[in-house]
Order: sequence, then structure tokens, then C-alpha cells
Amino acid sequence: MSTQITDNANASVAQNIARLNLLAPESTCSTDLASNPWDTPAGYGPGASQEDSVPAGYPVQGSIPEEYLEASDAELDTRIIAAKETLGDRAVILGHFYQRDEVVKYADFVGDSFQLANAALTRDKAEAIVFCGVHFMAETADILSREDQSVILPNLAAGCSMADMADGPSVQKCWEELTALYADEADDGRMPVIPVTYMNCSAELKAFVGRNGGLVCTSSNAATVLEWAFERGRRVLFFPDQHLGRNTAKAMGIPLEQMPMWTPRKELGGNEADTLLDAKVILWHGFCSVHKRFNPAQIAKAREDFPGVRVIVHPECPMEVVDAADEAGSTDYIQKAIAAATEPTAFAVGTEINMVNRLAAQYPQHNIFCLDPVICPCSTMYRIHPGYLAWVLEELVAGRVVNQISVPKEQQGDAKIALERMLAAKP
Ligand code: SF4
Repeated sequence: MSTQITDNANASVAQNIARLNLLAPESTCSTDLASNPWDTPAGYGPGASQEDSVPAGYPVQGSIPEEYLEASDAELDTRIIAAKETLGDRAVILGHFYQRDEVVKYADFVGDSFQLANAALTRDKAEAIVFCGVHFMAETADILSREDQSVILPNLAAGCSMADMADGPSVQKCWEELTALYADEADDGRMPVIPVTYMNCSAELKAFVGRNGGLVCTSSNAATVLEWAFERGRRVLFFPDQHLGRNTAKAMGIPLEQMPMWTPRKELGGNEADTLLDAKVILWHGFCSVHKRFNPAQIAKAREDFPGVRVIVHPECPMEVVDAADEAGSTDYIQKAIAAATEPTAFAVGTEINMVNRLAAQYPQHNIFCLDPVICPCSTMYRIHPGYLAWVLEELVAGRVVNQISVPKEQQGDAKIALERMLAAKP
């Protein structure tokens, strides 16, 4: 797993603002979704996951002082910079690749969720880790951080609709049904089924896989993790992202007929027992609403408009999209592939718009554009408005920790085992 990420620490905020002063291509959905950024509607709000339903028990962000709601962008900017300077090494700010630029420009590190959680560990003096991402990312940082460090999510309502598609009780029920079904199989020394979870899940599920002989994967190491699992088990239960599971297993030569989908709340996940007995990878019915928007017609159009275009998509995209693309890989892969291109190239990229726009600004010698002409940003990530960042930082300056994300002690150990197994899994 690569830990190469962007270290913003040595660039001034002003430099970062200049570097990240990006414009979305005219035809894209605006990245400015904030007609009223303070609303926490029943759904996930505007953006690509707006039609997903928020599960019961979802964290609610209480109201924050009016002064942050009323402050202009310029005032928030001044206050965030001042608070950051006062805090110095005592706080580290992490910005996910998909985070909006108005927030990312204050980040000390920019990267994917696991890279960021690890980057925070390099800041020994940091008492607070401010994670400008979504809930599961802050939980991962809390699992990996020291006990004396606080992990803060500036807006508690910044969840991930994909992570929310697999909840603890539904996965537990699935596990019980599967283990009962496989109980009569002949013992060949391997486990009947090994649970594998994508990093994009709750700490509760990371602990679940750790407790049940499984492990976590990222979009960079999913194939290695599946190989690890197949050395020890006859099958894999993969959640929550069906697409990452299917794309990875297909590339390993596993036939689609041996990848049934598990639909929660249906008996045997909506499958016949024989199908599950013959299965190699059981895919949870989860997906990312951002990456689900890409389709093969967009790729055909890009090829028509830009002959010779290189199409790179994220493996959270549907299988037909990955099949039609030239390459598929994690955010880290996409970034490195573009950085490595020596000749001016047209890149059609299938991932979240904030990251694509940032790459386009960073590499002006290339023509980098998003595959979906009307793609919207990740709406959950978008909930981290600069006003929330100003609020949590100024609270820290005042000696108060707000919006702390604390993974329960009973989940910490098992979740860490699942992460350590991932790190130990070798290609
Ligand atoms: S881009 Fe998709 S998987 Fe990533 S945080 Fe947003 S909803 Fe979740």
C-alpha cells in the first residue's frame, strides 16, 4: 500500500488557495452546492448521493453558533488561518481527495482515507486530528491514533452512503445464515467463508471481520487481500461495495456466476442455497452513488470527442465501465498515472469531480476531464463547510474538543487486527 500523499504542510495557505483555485468545466454540475450549507436534510443532501436514504441512528449534527453561519467566506478564511496558526503542531488537518477545495486548502495532508490516517501518525505533537472527510475515515484515524489524541469530524452529519449500506445487524444475520449453510461441508482445512470489508465501512464492521478471521481492503490492495483470503478460505463475503468486489474478482478470473449478490433483509440474501454453495465471492448489495453514475456511453463519447484519450476509472464504478475503460485503479493509482505521463495527453477520469478538477489544475499540460458531464460531488463529504472547520478549530484554541469521534474500546482491538492483517497481506 503506497503512503505517498500530498503534503500541504510546506505550502502556505495562500499558495494552496492559488493552486486550488479551480473551476469546474462549464458542463459539469457545480461544485458549489451550498444554497444553504447548514441544512441537514433527511436525505444526504444535494449531490450524487442525494437519493440514498439515511439509516436510522445516523449521527446528527447539532446547531453551531450563529456567528459561523453568518460569517463571510473572507472572515472564515481569516479565522481558520488564525486558529491554525495558534494551534501549530497541536493540530493536524486532513483533507480527503474528494473534499471541496474551500476546505482542502487548509489541509496539512491530502490523500485517501487510509493514507491520511497514517499521515496523522507522523505528527507526534498533534493532540487533535481534524479529519475533513467522512465518518468512517475519522473512525479509522481514531483506531490507528494514540489514546491521548482526539479525532474530530467537523460536521457529524458527514457520513458515507456506501458505508451506511452495510449495517452491523444485517451483516451479522448474513454471516449466521451463511455459516449455517456451510456447516455440513467437508472440512478441507480452510474456512468456509472469510469476511472482507472495504475500508469504507463502520468501525463496527471492521471489528466484525477482525473477530471472524477476515480483513479490510482498500481499492489499491483489494486483489492482494482476496488472494490472502482464498489461501485460507473457500469463499469470500465482500462488503459493502459490490462493484469493487466484482471488478477485483473478475480480474482474478472468477466467473460472474460464482459471484452472487447478497441483498440484506431477504432470506439467504435473495439466493438459492445451491448458488451460495457454489459461490466464490458473495457480494453485498452496496455501491457508491458517485461512481455509479458513470456508464459506457460516456466512455464512447469521450473516445469520439478526443481520439486517443486515456480513460481511467475508479474500481467503485460498475463492471461495464471498468471493462470499457483503458485502466482502472484507486485514487492513488489515478494520480500517479497522470503524474507519470510525459507527453500531453487527454485523460477522461471516472471519479469524484473535486479530485478531477484538482488534477486538471495541477497538470495543465494535459487535458484532464471528468467522464460524466453532469457529475455531482460526493454530497456527504461536501457537508464539511469551512464554517464547521472554523468552529472546531476555534473550539480547540479555547481548549474544548467538539465533534470527537471515539470508536468504542470493545471494537478497537478487533478492528485493528483486521487492519493489521491487511497490512501484512503480501502480493
Ligand atoms: S465518494 Fe462514495 S464511497 Fe466515497 S465517501 Fe462519497 S459516497 Fe462514500
